[in-house]
Amino acid sequence: MGDETPLWLFGDQLGRHFHATPENRGREVLLIESEAALARRPFHRQKLHLVLSAMRHLAGELGDRATLVRARTYREGLARFGRPVVVHEPGSHAAERLVAGLIEEGRVEAELPTPGFIRSRRDFAAWADGRGRLVMEDFYRDQRRRFAILVEPDGDPVGGTWNLDRDNREPPPHRAALGVPRAYRPREDEVDRGVRDDLDRLLRAGRIRPVGVDGPRLFAATHDEARRALRRFLTTRLASFGPHQDAMLAGDWTMSHALLSAPLNLGLLDPLAVVREAEARLRSGEAPLNSVEGFVRQILGWREWIWHLYWYLGPSYLGRNALDARTPLPDWWRRLDPSRVSARCLRTALAGVRDRAYAHHIQRLMVLGNFALQRGFAPRALTEWFATAFVDGHPWVMPANVIGMSQYADGGVAATKPYAAGGAYINAMSDYCRDCRYDPRIRLGPDACPFTAGYWAWLDRNATRLAGNRRMSRPLSGLRRLADREAVVEQEEHRRRY
Ligand SMILES: Cc1cc2nc3c(=O)[nH]c(=O)nc-3n(C[C@H](O)[C@H](O)[C@H](O)COP(=O)(O)OP(=O)(O)OC[C@H]3O[C@@H](n4cnc5c(N)ncnc54)[C@H](O)[C@@H]3O)c2cc1C
Ligand code: SF4
Repeated sequence: MGDETPLWLFGDQLGRHFHATPENRGREVLLIESEAALARRPFHRQKLHLVLSAMRHLAGELGDRATLVRARTYREGLARFGRPVVVHEPGSHAAERLVAGLIEEGRVEAELPTPGFIRSRRDFAAWADGRGRLVMEDFYRDQRRRFAILVEPDGDPVGGTWNLDRDNREPPPHRAALGVPRAYRPREDEVDRGVRDDLDRLLRAGRIRPVGVDGPRLFAATHDEARRALRRFLTTRLASFGPHQDAMLAGDWTMSHALLSAPLNLGLLDPLAVVREAEARLRSGEAPLNSVEGFVRQILGWREWIWHLYWYLGPSYLGRNALDARTPLPDWWRRLDPSRVSARCLRTALAGVRDRAYAHHIQRLMVLGNFALQRGFAPRALTEWFATAFVDGHPWVMPANVIGMSQYADGGVAATKPYAAGGAYINAMSDYCRDCRYDPRIRLGPDACPFTAGYWAWLDRNATRLAGNRRMSRPLSGLRRLADREAVVEQEEHRRRY
């Protein structure tokens, strides 16, 4: 195989660390817009826009070097291109099966490793094989040492400790917004206008069925935009990233979050470069250690961890349902309709997904995920919902985050205890409860907070299943002491409005 074999890039492989490496620089690039991929699921309108915009922008940037084929399927696109290609490891089991088939047919000459993640899959398997329990913290420390990030020359962590999470759990300030400078906002151009017209046309013809509202593009779609978004974050928001990482304010949808998951997951930013640039802000004194470590942990730790668990645990992981949760997703949830919801925390998070295809981490985990867990939503359907309704949703990122972390459907592989909490937690970490129609302290009656009452009802339902988990012994003994336990359970069984 010579360097001249064209490189087929999937829509999540669009950065220079894919197409501008010494090995790939000489290759022609093929991009395929597959209508079947757009139409297969009810994706958020803004997500469809972002992916198409990113692919078309790259095709424009590469000029004669790139061919953009619009086809019904990837296979049809490849057939139309007419020459064998090479491709980087894709981001889903389904795409991997497709590539394996295409290799057999001779349409794909080779599958190259992906530069979209810092550690290779083979390396992760070598680290993980033979370990009793897979623990993110162990992996993260290994990553820090291996890539020499925030470590002293003798291998000890900078600042003497690996984990500064304890400094990063401050409640929100008593203000409507965190008060940090605005995040980077891209400016739409001709390419975006073309994408919008095409999506409108597909919608009118009934060939796509998106959810959410259309709106100005909020996330980076090109290398240059992603670099600008990163620089703006590092310069103006990284310093405050740490302390309020877990806090929520109804009037501040970004807080100090980076808004970089979408460009990272489109492959526009090299994750190791992002981590090194954050580390440099510590050395230059622009950001404190707790913020830099907190951010590095997200990318070098969590993002890599989630990617590798996807492959390591295999496709069957998606079928896990340790808590036997079977409730179908309500219509208002699937259609992103916050008008049906009174609970202010849930309404705000759902409205954010409808309007921006985004909610920040703690809204995803402790509001949306927590609610779904308490109400027993079927984990697989919920995984599909997160993958389609969020701008940064991709197949690899869902299972460990949703099945594992958020729903405990894997029985404790990804998290040592379920992320379930009542209204007291949400009240401590947000300003939602102040103006809510419910009261986080009340669990019975018309003012009973659906999260507080829902928490106890969920615990009651799962008491036997969770009895073996040492970290659940305190909540379970609290449940046993609950004077109105039966009444709360009965009330939540019949609750239809939240
Ligand atoms: C139920 C649930 C669903 C989620 N769905 C997605 C998803 O579809 N796509 C996605 O990229 N992330 C997902 N996450 C992880 C995380 O919530 C988002 O990465 C983050 O909110 C994106 O916003 P940000 O860029 O402002 O992140 P920040 O809070 O600023 O974090 C910085 C970066 O760290 C990375 N990161 C941090 N935690 C994770 C994680 N658990 N998994 C993967 N990357 C992580 C992201 O690349 C993110 O951009 C999910 C988490 C939960 C609990
Ligand atoms: S009172 Fe309950 S439902 Fe209302 S915002 Fe607080 S936690 Fe959410």
